[in-house]
Amino acid sequence: MLSLKEVVGGYGEVQIIHGVSLNVRAGSVTALLGANGAGKTTIMLMLAGVLPVTQGEVLFDGKSMGAQRGHQRVNAGMVLVPEGRRVFPNLSVEENLRLGGIVPAARPTWKQRIEEMYELFPRLRERRSQAAGTLSGGEQQMLAIARGLMARPKLLLLDEPTLGLAPIMAQLVFDTIRSLNRSGLSILIAEQDTRNTLNLADEAYVVENGRITLHGSSDNLKNDPRVKEAYLGL
Ligand code: ATP
Repeated sequence: MLSLKEVVGGYGEVQIIHGVSLNVRAGSVTALLGANGAGKTTIMLMLAGVLPVTQGEVLFDGKSMGAQRGHQRVNAGMVLVPEGRRVFPNLSVEENLRLGGIVPAARPTWKQRIEEMYELFPRLRERRSQAAGTLSGGEQQMLAIARGLMARPKLLLLDEPTLGLAPIMAQLVFDTIRSLNRSGLSILIAEQDTRNTLNLADEAYVVENGRITLHGSSDNLKNDPRVKEAYLGL
């Protein structure tokens, strides 16, 4: 579904990603693991079209994304839920959701889609008129995910969705991601929580200094001595 081939990029003159190749299979949860500053967010921003890809290629559903702007990628079915949630704090929950549904592919059915989001996240229905900034961190993350889902993505890019959440809320977010995947959504997730992410994902890539240093099925990586030592604290 998504394929990166020797992708290079960064911030202006500062090259951060030095030739990353990876694949996300349709229907899978694929993870990007790695420490703070490894380059996971940079890869996500390059996929979303926020940062340029200076070399290499990004293929989504067989099409090159090189010339596609951010909103065109959303319309094609690839949606980023950014790190740090980034809901509009002064807008209500429902207004945030509506904004997620304004892309052409989703606009005709936005009302029905909001209902679907309320069924998926009953807490958001209860708080539909409340300013998003007054929600708890976990609720804001649910809203950020729901806002992304409003665009009816085929592939959801999740950047550190559990960062800063209490363990019980983080678990709820992981459970939500699992059930979204079971309903057919493909997911690329960047996380620092290696243990829970390997339990969720089918496959994972370890990012270090802007390169992929390990790749495999989650089961294989869980048992890899390098992952155990560096990321699982075993
Ligand atoms: P984190 O968990 O902190 O988000 P990450 O793996 O997502 O970690 P990135 O945010 O992609 O890491 O950062 C990768 C590198 O890019 C870091 O060395 C960081 O300092 C650098 N970087 C991030 N933002 C900028 C920027 N605006 N300009 C220049 N360098 C940046």
